[in-house]
Amino acid sequence: MRARAPAFVVWIVVGALGLTAAVAQEPPADRPPTVEEPLPDRPEAAPDTVSAPAPEAAPASRVDDARPPVRPEESEAAPPPAAPETPETPEEPVADDDSPAVPPLPAQPSPLSLGSQLTLPTEAPLALAQGGSVPATPSIPATLRESDADYAACLRKIDRLGVGYTEIEPITDPEDRDCGIARPLQVETLRGGITLEGGAPMRCETALALAEWTRDFVLPAARRLPDSPRLTGLQLGSTYDCRGRVGTGAEAPKLSEHALGNAIDIMAFAFEQGEPLVVTPRAESGDMAEAFQRAVRGSACLFFTTVLGPGSNEAHDDHLHLDIAARNGGWRLCE
Ligand SMILES: [Zn+2]
Repeated sequence: MRARAPAFVVWIVVGALGLTAAVAQEPPADRPPTVEEPLPDRPEAAPDTVSAPAPEAAPASRVDDARPPVRPEESEAAPPPAAPETPETPEEPVADDDSPAVPPLPAQPSPLSLGSQLTLPTEAPLALAQGGSVPATPSIPATLRESDADYAACLRKIDRLGVGYTEIEPITDPEDRDCGIARPLQVETLRGGITLEGGAPMRCETALALAEWTRDFVLPAARRLPDSPRLTGLQLGSTYDCRGRVGTGAEAPKLSEHALGNAIDIMAFAFEQGEPLVVTPRAESGDMAEAFQRAVRGSACLFFTTVLGPGSNEAHDDHLHLDIAARNGGWRLCE
């Protein structure tokens, strides 16, 4: 308020001077209304838009030089430029800096603009608040995005392993820029006709770990079961899922590896003969099912950096959680 008062006074004085000058130069009929209207507008418009200093600085020099052209230009042209500038600036860095996030950009406006389609300035601050750190910190899927060389190398590996998959469009989440998979694969089968029931989107490295573990340990372990049943499928629980990690608090939950295509939950192992062998607490049951579950669970830690299951906590009593979370020093969490 106090800051505006001097500006307002200056405007009045300047306006008066300008008025005097204008009166001397041009027909008085046009000048007074042109000068009076902008004056009240200026102090009000300045504090509303963040660019208050700009309008104040501009008139000081312009008024002296050429009053007639400045007036109409400021009163009408000044506000519009301020509005478009704000939304344009944040949008560009988002698109450039976070290429996988390009798809979510068009999706963001829809939820945000539901109640304010015409209020671009209102959306701009929201976008800034959400994406304010975008230029400095890319989204997690962007940081995990495989280079062309790494991605091609991974595809060659899973091709050799006989993984059945299709490359699908990047997975993003309009409500959480840190959820998603930059280069997802929809994995359907593993070599030997082993199906992932329903298929599962995941990163290539996750598919690779799953295929190698299954080939090297799950299949041999299955052959040790009574009657050597043929493994025909992995019954899956959560695959890709944009959510927080279980047990990390509701206020600031850490993102689950499921939200990044790094994790897969296995509920049961299906065989050609007999019932599926479900993952369940089997400690001290003293049978081959326990031996199989212990064997595949223990060996999974050679391929995945996180292995959780029955006994880890209640949330994992009915499945094996396997993920390839990267940790400092290659540290693994296998329980
Ligand atoms: Zn899980």
